[in-house]
Amino acid sequence: MAGHEGKPEIIISRLSKLYSDEGWHKGMPFEVLIATVLSHRTRDEMTARASERLFEKYGTPEALARALPGEVEPLIRDVGFYRVKSARIIRIAGLLIEKFGGRVPDDMDSLLTLPGVGRKTANCVLNYGFSKPAIAVDTHVHRISNRIGIVETRTPEETEMRLMEIIPEHQWVSINGLIVRFGQDVCRPVGPRCGECVLADVCGSYEDKGNSD
Ligand code: SF4
Repeated sequence: MAGHEGKPEIIISRLSKLYSDEGWHKGMPFEVLIATVLSHRTRDEMTARASERLFEKYGTPEALARALPGEVEPLIRDVGFYRVKSARIIRIAGLLIEKFGGRVPDDMDSLLTLPGVGRKTANCVLNYGFSKPAIAVDTHVHRISNRIGIVETRTPEETEMRLMEIIPEHQWVSINGLIVRFGQDVCRPVGPRCGECVLADVCGSYEDKGNSD
């Protein structure tokens, strides 16, 4: 098991100084849910553009449930697999009305019954839509947690479970937003900018590259 003693606190503390929580994707649960489904395998700016167009016209479960796929597709054409996602989000809106009284449920088990919703999406909804303690593990959180060495895991689900063990619950809500920004700016998938990284002294990968003193 990776040595992590004290590292999660250091990581959260330093990244919190770098990134304020302005601009994070907090919002109405319905918008967070649908935007997160749209975001799968899609760049953030494309998701934002498509979501804005979609919610201008279909801002409630009732409105979206009545839409036809052919009406939604042109609005979300910027996202990957937009035809599949168009049908999926209409189906989700219908299920919210049929099963949950037109509201997004605020518990993991109910969220996981919706099509295309896995733990990452459900945790995003709990985190950004309801401000509940949850760790949404996307590719950034999974990659960076392993690179630094606070976890040694093969899947995002394993990473989520391990992070919940080693990070105090009151800090879960900050993890995704901080690490996603850090993963876009510094610890990028390809070509991480280790030379200007505020976490270099606690990062196992930095040491692995022979950069330690
Ligand atoms: S030192 Fe490099 S690999 Fe480690 S967290 Fe920083 S950018 Fe990522």
